Amino acid sequence: MPNSNAVVRLTGSGVDTWALWLKIMACGATVTLLLLLAVFTWALYRQRDRETPVALHFTLANLFASVYVAGDIAVRLSLLQGQLGSVMQPYRVSLSAVVMALAAFICLEQVLRRRATPPLRLLVIYAVGALLSALLWWRHPGLIIRNDTFTVSDVGVFADYCAGAAPFFGGCLVLFAIATYRMLRRARRAGSDLVRRLTWFGFAVFFLAGVHDTFRELGVELLPFSALTLGCAVFQLGAFAAMAIHYSLTLGERSRHDHQLRRLTDRATRDPLSGLFNRAYLEHRLDTLGRAAPGGLLFIDLDHFKLVNDRFGHGHGDRLIRAVAECIRDTMRQEDIACRWGGDEFVVYLPSASASSAPPVVERLLRAFATIELHGVTDIDIGASMGFAELDGGDWRDTLQRADAALYQAKAGGRNRLSIAPSATD
Ligand code: GH3
Ligand code: MG
Repeated sequence: MPNSNAVVRLTGSGVDTWALWLKIMACGATVTLLLLLAVFTWALYRQRDRETPVALHFTLANLFASVYVAGDIAVRLSLLQGQLGSVMQPYRVSLSAVVMALAAFICLEQVLRRRATPPLRLLVIYAVGALLSALLWWRHPGLIIRNDTFTVSDVGVFADYCAGAAPFFGGCLVLFAIATYRMLRRARRAGSDLVRRLTWFGFAVFFLAGVHDTFRELGVELLPFSALTLGCAVFQLGAFAAMAIHYSLTLGERSRHDHQLRRLTDRATRDPLSGLFNRAYLEHRLDTLGRAAPGGLLFIDLDHFKLVNDRFGHGHGDRLIRAVAECIRDTMRQEDIACRWGGDEFVVYLPSASASSAPPVVERLLRAFATIELHGVTDIDIGASMGFAELDGGDWRDTLQRADAALYQAKAGGRNRLSIAPSATD
C-alpha cells in the first residue's frame, strides 16, 4: 500500500483536482462521440457501405479509449475516497483498455489499407490483444505487475511493475509506432489538404502522448501529468473532423453520380424532342405489365403536319411537336404513360380508360390542341386524329393495331376526331 502522505499530497493538490475534472469532461465528450460513432456505424452497416469496417474498428478504438479514461478517473476517485484497496482494479482496467485500443488501432490500419481484410485475421489481432491484456491481471514477480501494491508520487499512481513490464510496454510501443507510421503514410494520400493536415495532427499528438505515457509508466517522467487522455481527445476530434469532411466529399460525389445516372436513364427512356417517353420505354412497360394490363391504348396522329413543315420549315414543325407534347402532358393523369411513337405520332397508355371513358379525355386533348399558337404559323388549324382500343387480355401489339386501324377511320371520317375500335371479340 502507498505512503498515505503521498496520497494526501496528490489528492489534496489543486492541480490533481483540475486534472480530474478535465478527465471527467473528456470522458463525457468521448462517450458522446462514441454513441454518435455507434449510430453512424450501424447506419453504414444497414446500407452495406464499403466504409463499414473502417467505422467499426474506429468505434471499437474509441470504446477502449473511453474505458481507459473512465478507469483512470475511477483510480483517482478511489484515492480521493480513501479506498486504497480498490485502486488496482480500475488501474488494470485502464491498462487493459489501452492494449485493446492498440489492437483496434492496428485493425483500423489494416481495413484502411484493404476494406475486405479477412475477418479471421482481425479476430486474431483482437484475441492477441485480449491475451496480452489478461497478462496485466496476473500477479506474478516474473510477469508485468508483481502484486496489488502501488506507488503514489506527486504526479500520479503507478503499479508495482516487475521485469516483464519494460519489454511488454516496449513491444506495445513498437506496434503503436508501426501502425501510426502506416496511418500517416496513408494520410499523405488523403483526398483534401485539410483532411491530410487534420489526420497528421490527430495521429501525431496521439502518438507523442502514447510514447510519453509509456515512458511515464516505466518511471521516466517528461511532463508532470499523464498526456494520453489529452492525446485521445485530440485524436478523436481530429479523426472525427477528417471523417466528417471525407463523408461530405463522398456524399457530394454520390449525388453527382446519381445526377449523372438520372441523366443517362432519361436519355435512354425519353424522346429528346418532345420530352415524352420514347417508343422503346412504352414497349418495355407494356411488355412488363403483360396480358393482365387494364385500360386501353390511344393512338394519336397530327393532321396535315407535313404542311407545317413544307410551308413554315422544320423548325416550326419541331416546335409544334413540343407544344403538342406539352398539351398531352398537361391533360393526362399521373398514371398514364405517354410516348412519342415516331414522326407526328403519339401513343398513350391509359390504365383506367375504357371505350366509354376515353371520349371525354380525347375531347379535352382536342380542345388543348386547338389553343396551340405558334409564332409565324398562320392559316392552319392544328388538330389530330385518334384511335382508341381497349386492352382485352391478349397481346398489347394487337390492341395497338386495332387503335391504328381506328385512327385511320378517324382520318377517313374527316380528321380531328376520335374513333373507337370495336372490341376484338365483336
Ligand atoms: P396526315 O394528316 O394524313 O397525318 O398527314 P401529315 O401531313 O400529318 O403527314 P404524315 O403523318 O404522313 O407524316 C408526318 C411527317 O412528319 C413526315 C415527316 O416529314 C415529318 N416528321 C417526322 N419526324 C419529324 C420531326 O422530328 N420533325 C419535324 N419537323 N417533322 C418530322
Ligand atoms: Mg400526320
